[in-house]
Amino acid sequence: MSTNPAHPDPPEEIGRRLLQWYAGARRTLPWRSETGVPADPWSVLVSEFLLQQTRVAVVARRFTDFMRRFPDPASMAGAPVEAVLHAWQGLGYYRRARLLHACAQAICSRHDGSVPSDPGLLRRLPGIGPYTAAAVAAIAFRHPCLPVDGNVIRVFSRLLALQDPLPVLRRQLPARVLPFVDRVAPDEAAQAWMELGSLVCLPSRPRCGDCCLRASCRARALGIAAELPRRPAPPDRPVRYAIVFLAHRSDGALLLRRRPSTGILAGMFELPGSEWLDSPPDERSLTPPVAAGWRPVAGEIRHLFTHLDLRLRLRRAEVPLATVPREGDWYPPHRIARLPLPALTRKLLRHAGMELPAEAMDARHREGDVASARERRQSRRSGA
Ligand code: SF4
Repeated sequence: MSTNPAHPDPPEEIGRRLLQWYAGARRTLPWRSETGVPADPWSVLVSEFLLQQTRVAVVARRFTDFMRRFPDPASMAGAPVEAVLHAWQGLGYYRRARLLHACAQAICSRHDGSVPSDPGLLRRLPGIGPYTAAAVAAIAFRHPCLPVDGNVIRVFSRLLALQDPLPVLRRQLPARVLPFVDRVAPDEAAQAWMELGSLVCLPSRPRCGDCCLRASCRARALGIAAELPRRPAPPDRPVRYAIVFLAHRSDGALLLRRRPSTGILAGMFELPGSEWLDSPPDERSLTPPVAAGWRPVAGEIRHLFTHLDLRLRLRRAEVPLATVPREGDWYPPHRIARLPLPALTRKLLRHAGMELPAEAMDARHREGDVASARERRQSRRSGA
């Protein structure tokens, strides 16, 4: 074992130590097969979609139910996209659900319902980029490659003391890790690199004293481990404003409308309201969805999307049973429980003190599970 990180150990030796550590440290996760047992490709593919922007602890809680509902590509391809959106409820970033549905349909139409093993074919499926293609190929089919996700970028940027900013590393690392590709057990090696980033080489406080690669790590030797990878300043999110209307009837029905089938929160259900504007809307220019005695609900509701900071004011009214809305439809509680409601809608209802149906309540408790952009960057696949 080298003690001089200016001349680190050869990749084979580093890989050997990594796998030795992984054999004792690997977590049991519902999509992960036992060592030596082939993984189910569809399970691996679904887990990669789920893990793209949601923390591993959350995915681990939801995965078994999700797979029970969609045990293979055919079961998802044959279901309406609304069923996938509903199963996805509370996981955030719903575009992934639509892409997974399209991916399942493409697997059925192009590959007879079996997930292809070739990374090139995988990349041609909807929602699958270079990382996911490499992850499915390596983990499910033992294709000799090393998927480079945020954890792997972090570990290698430190191991090799790479000082380029993160966007440059994202482009360059797939080529730089080639000498580290394990050709005997690429499935175990891929998961081992990710696991080291999740459990030991942590974003702000790397546990170098516990790390199996500490003797080879250049950043540790230079005392700059926590500074890597170098990040560009985060972009400012543009602020948007809107007013939304919460109309409810004495039988518990709520007035909801469906968002357009493309764009942000596509196809999800929301409270009717104004457009999202770059300055607070003039209330006098708005036409509420029903004529009623609208009362303001105190406070501003803030909701952060990846590239948008949305500030909302809420108006509320109880209206007679026979009220016909100008837009949207009335949904009784038992139907609301089956609708794909985004976190934003549930947040607004909670702000107004509305009781949600039991199933929607369950999703409500998961709202905090949707990782913020910063959390996603820092703790993808971490068990935190
Ligand atoms: Fe990461 Fe520290 Fe291990 Fe280097 S020694 S790979 S910085 S945990």
